[in-house]
Amino acid sequence: MSEYKKIILAVDLTEESKLVARRAMALVEAFSSELHIVHVIEPLGLTYGGDVPMDLSSVQEQIQEQAKAHLAEFAAELGVSESRQHLIFGRPESEIQRTADQEQADLIVVGSHGRHGLALLLGSTANGVLHGAGCDVLAVRVGKAD
Ligand code: AMP
Repeated sequence: MSEYKKIILAVDLTEESKLVARRAMALVEAFSSELHIVHVIEPLGLTYGGDVPMDLSSVQEQIQEQAKAHLAEFAAELGVSESRQHLIFGRPESEIQRTADQEQADLIVVGSHGRHGLALLLGSTANGVLHGAGCDVLAVRVGKAD
């Protein structure tokens, strides 16, 4: 197997992210890879289909500030510098892929809940990232099946 020189770790910043990060770190150590961390903020307008009759900009700003601080803290624990932290707005699947393309990464590491039934039909972030990714994708099993 060829080496992974650059790894993109995608985190939703939940508790489960620590487990996903642990797997990524094992690979970083094995291959002396460069690690980048990406967290995507879904714009509230996107989430609610633009149908909310109020100005969400200050809420969005607060979400961004909190996410930035949380990402910085998470990255510091892994020894990842600010230039390798990516805080992006958009849809997680496509922004994770875009960051991997932009950084010319050779591996994306995401968590996967291994859902069944309806959630499987609708697809998870891991599924979305896998479809259309230009590099390898490692889906780390996290949480419960349902
Ligand atoms: P999900 O299937 O959407 O619950 O997410 C599974 C995995 O996708 C997470 O463990 C992360 O690796 C990745 N992911 C989900 N949402 C985001 C996000 N907003 N930013 C970055 N990665 C995410």
